[in-house]
Amino acid sequence: MLGLMQEWPLLCHKLIDEAAIQHGRREIVSRSLEGPIVRTTYAELRSRALKVAQRLERDGYGLGDRIATLAWNTARHLEAWYGIMGIGAIYHTLNPRLFAEQIVWIMNHAEDKAVFVDLTFLPLVEKIAGQVKSLRQVIVLTDSAHMPQTTLANAVAYEEWLAEADGDFRWKTFDEGTAAGMCYTSGTTGEPKGVLYSHRSNVLHAMIAAMPDAMGLSSRDVVLPVVPMFHANAWGLGQACPMIGAKMVMPGGKMDGASIYELLDTEKVTFSAAVPTVWLMLLQYLEETGRKLPYLNKVVIGGSACPRMITKKFQDDYGVEVVHAWGMTEMSPLGTLCTLKPEYAGLEGGARLDVQQTQGYAQFGVEMTVTDDEDNHLPWDGKTFGRLKVRGPAVARAYYGGAGAEQFDADGWFDTGDVAHIDPNGYMQITDRAKDVIKSGGEWISTIELENLAVGHPDVAEAAVIGVAHSKWGERPLLVAVRKPGRKPSRDDILDFMEGKVAKWWMPDDVTFVAEIPHTATGKIQKTALRKQFSDYRLP
Ligand code: ADP
Repeated sequence: MLGLMQEWPLLCHKLIDEAAIQHGRREIVSRSLEGPIVRTTYAELRSRALKVAQRLERDGYGLGDRIATLAWNTARHLEAWYGIMGIGAIYHTLNPRLFAEQIVWIMNHAEDKAVFVDLTFLPLVEKIAGQVKSLRQVIVLTDSAHMPQTTLANAVAYEEWLAEADGDFRWKTFDEGTAAGMCYTSGTTGEPKGVLYSHRSNVLHAMIAAMPDAMGLSSRDVVLPVVPMFHANAWGLGQACPMIGAKMVMPGGKMDGASIYELLDTEKVTFSAAVPTVWLMLLQYLEETGRKLPYLNKVVIGGSACPRMITKKFQDDYGVEVVHAWGMTEMSPLGTLCTLKPEYAGLEGGARLDVQQTQGYAQFGVEMTVTDDEDNHLPWDGKTFGRLKVRGPAVARAYYGGAGAEQFDADGWFDTGDVAHIDPNGYMQITDRAKDVIKSGGEWISTIELENLAVGHPDVAEAAVIGVAHSKWGERPLLVAVRKPGRKPSRDDILDFMEGKVAKWWMPDDVTFVAEIPHTATGKIQKTALRKQFSDYRLP
């Protein structure tokens, strides 16, 4: 027997409707690409999103069309998302930090028909547009006064284009399983793979993200999503904030310490989210200037492992709570968040930091397991590590076009490619990427743990550990480190510092210093490049 409750499809435009109806005057503040700080409201943003939808429909776009965005976090980018989704088309966020050839490959694979582009990236689009066969239109996110000369025949200034719509439009309705958004993983392992979010998964993810023990957002929060909308949906904040009516502060293209601080301070931001690198820049700025963070309550840090030092500084020096989080594009992207269950809430000092070094636990909506190579589920004992697998209503069940099918199994588990252990309270800790883990004498060595330890040395700016061929053990760890400016630690200084803090057989066989470590477009250490660079390295 079926229940007798109403069918209320989980469609993304309901999020922006809620924002406009209940929180219509709440502001969205953006650092515009033209320069000044600009302000709008949820009511205004919704009415402009309706115009985007109306205008797109008039230009012949509709259900299932992929419409790309190549833009920083601004209100214009957000209203474009809602306008695109509102006619059943699919916003496809492109990562401008990728190489031009990768962007061309991705746009052709997705068959993007139009692109909304920031002024900053117009030269890039001019360069590649001719190579994207499906591309019909380029909408430049600016007004006619700021519209530059362009070689593109089919380019139009957004404000001018939008002015031709009167906004007398109703959102289209369709099944909640309809695709809403698209994002390709950066392809550090093979070709990029497209993840296709649905309206239902986006709405459920927003609800999961906002929960008290997840990001814990409310209408009283002022949220600064530093994490870009093109990096895994700005971790869901573009949906969660309208849903609960939080004020949003959009940083545009400036993410340096001074620019972020200015917004945190003038807009009285209470909550923010970004990758560790951004926070390192901010903390450095605060140290140099002696400024404080009186309004900021909480920061979510993820995308790569959060160094202990960042958590400690935020909490001890600035009174800001750190929530370490793990996720991936394929998970919309939140997987786990490290908020403290009662079992851990009373911990202080080093013991508290130990727990906060883990990536936290899976909230309702994400199931998680670790398995060995034979698919046996491993115990949650806080030390046995294996392949981390997940499933849930906002987790991918396939990639667009069917790539990477081997990552999905018949029980619905998605193999994340991460290696982790889970403790008896459910707290997961990533020990490696499966492809980066070092196999020494048949046993696994976690490179992340060694890297975290090495960057704890006061003279080390960055560290990466890779496996190097070894005649007896198969592979042994090599530590590649970048010295802090003006410091000259030796190999033995670093090894002495690490000694006794990890198992003896985990200790790197050697340390080598480089000027720079290569990074991917999402700011992660590019181990493939490092392994190539040191493929002939002879350990002592
Ligand atoms: P990519 O950068 O490869 O396109 P994502 O941005 O989706 O893809 O990154 C997902 C991966 O980032 C995870 O599988 C994991 O390896 C890593 N990652 C994310 N958050 C953390 C974290 N808090 N600690 C360690 N690794 C993390």
